[in-house]
Amino acid sequence: MACPTCSSDNPEVASYCHRCGTSLRAGDASRTASYAVQSAEGVTQFALISTVMPHTSRRSADNYRWAMILSGVLILGATALGLLPIAIAAAAFLVPLAYLVYIDDVNLWEEAPAAVVVGLFLATGALSVLVSLFFFDWVFDAQWASFAGGGRARGGIGSMSFPALLIFAVLLPVVAEVAKNLFAVLLASRPQFDDMIDGLTFGVAAGTAYAAFETVVVYSSVFTAQDFRTTSGIASWLVVVVNVMVIKSLIYGTATGIAVAAYSGKGEAYDGFTPAYFASFGLAVGANIAYWLGVRLMAYLPFGNALGLIWGFVILAALVVKIRMMLQTALLEAAVEAAAKGDDYDNKRSTYVEAYCPECENLMLANASFCIVCGTSVRSSSRQARSAMGMRAVPAGAPAVDFADPVDPVHPDAPADPAAPSTDGGDK
Ligand SMILES: [Zn+2]
Ligand SMILES: [Zn+2]
Repeated sequence: MACPTCSSDNPEVASYCHRCGTSLRAGDASRTASYAVQSAEGVTQFALISTVMPHTSRRSADNYRWAMILSGVLILGATALGLLPIAIAAAAFLVPLAYLVYIDDVNLWEEAPAAVVVGLFLATGALSVLVSLFFFDWVFDAQWASFAGGGRARGGIGSMSFPALLIFAVLLPVVAEVAKNLFAVLLASRPQFDDMIDGLTFGVAAGTAYAAFETVVVYSSVFTAQDFRTTSGIASWLVVVVNVMVIKSLIYGTATGIAVAAYSGKGEAYDGFTPAYFASFGLAVGANIAYWLGVRLMAYLPFGNALGLIWGFVILAALVVKIRMMLQTALLEAAVEAAAKGDDYDNKRSTYVEAYCPECENLMLANASFCIVCGTSVRSSSRQARSAMGMRAVPAGAPAVDFADPVDPVHPDAPADPAAPSTDGGDK
């Protein structure tokens, strides 16, 4: 059966075109029910893990989900006990550290050591400390004092300082977004990280790192307080901890992820500072401003902290859906373009010998960019997922052989023999 989009020949049983990912089932041309990264999910579904960690498979995503939930419960427990220094520090770094583990775990870039991402994390963190100290301590400390402690205790919205609102809810998000983008964009412009998923990953790593270090600066008084244990205002501290642990961290991460993904662009080679990048950068800034304006103004309402939390969740959900629509379009459009170049075109992102789909374990066709059964893009599969499949073929007790190596769908240029010395580039 010929694909209606790219005219590639597909087996009669195919549900998705192996070259361009078009759904071959009748009446499903737009593929909105099947996300190219995780085909069992819809495109507009609010699924956090598969969005910010696109290289996880359904199984490994479950491990991350449970590890995060367990850590989150422990951190809330520490908050309830009033152990604020521990709770705030752990809440600030939970998401960025989990993200570093994920990047190391899926072994995203074999040729690049995890040190690259740790460097991005620390460099962005250092910038975050500088920007945060500048705003909260060095220059605008008097204006900040008019916010700290919540607005309601200070006699209603009339007491709010409008200049302070502009400084912390508009000016700071603009400056912060530049700082979050700086090193991530630098990495995304390297030729070995030109994929949109790479750009997204760098953006999320930089954004969450920035959030963590900013949280530490903003709540530094917690760490220098005389009493290690706090007994008053535990309920509002619980809301604060949930906010910095989940909402703020992920809003910063996903917003910057969108901007840096737009810098990478679809297909091979990065797009750079195009109008699409500046539009996405503006979206990232806008999401941060909307978040902080809402949080600051709602602090003057009854249950303001909790309302701010809900407001942040709404913005986060919108950012997550935006990323998924962006990746869906990019993966499908890039595949159509690659397929249009014909069979001779050496697409380094597709399989070159038979491999098994990491999601549904069916055999993939040669030169495939998508699984014909479930429609998952091979660009979203991880070495982790592939070696997990290889491991199951090894009898218990047998030496661990990485079956993923001879059939590496993402890097077919890699040497077929795991023992062979690695060649750089491996251009044929
Ligand atoms: Zn096609
Ligand atoms: Zn599949």
